[in-house]
Amino acid sequence: MNKEKLLVAAIENGTVIDHIPTNKLFKVAAILGLEEMSSPITLGNNFPSIKQGKKGVIKISDRFFSEEELSRIAILAPNVRLNVIKNYEVVEKRAIAVPEEIIGLVKCPNPKCITNNEPMKTHFYVVDDKEEVIRCKYCGRKISPTQIELL
Ligand SMILES: [Zn+2]
Repeated sequence: MNKEKLLVAAIENGTVIDHIPTNKLFKVAAILGLEEMSSPITLGNNFPSIKQGKKGVIKISDRFFSEEELSRIAILAPNVRLNVIKNYEVVEKRAIAVPEEIIGLVKCPNPKCITNNEPMKTHFYVVDDKEEVIRCKYCGRKISPTQIELL
């Protein structure tokens, strides 16, 4: 019997985001705006994972996400898996790709950066998508994933 499958009951139509690092589950939920959604949502955490030891899972019924919405998750939690479900079947299963640019989502840690002193959106480039390092367009400050602070 498949233990992982039993823990995550099937949904008819919707999105399953799997392999979320357990310490990122609630941040991912916030980024997706789950609080404002009216469709049925299941959040699971500390599920056993062969790859990670433990993982988080989010299931959202009757909701499909744009690439832009999904790419925000990848900034915080690389290697997260997307499953799109239609009629109880997985019709799409893949890793979520990190975007090339991140606009208005991440705070620049440099207090002197213009984005911390003017009413404007932050703008980062992904400089190394293996290491998930991003660089501020305005001041050049590089940030590693553990330092990322969301706006
Ligand atoms: Zn900056």
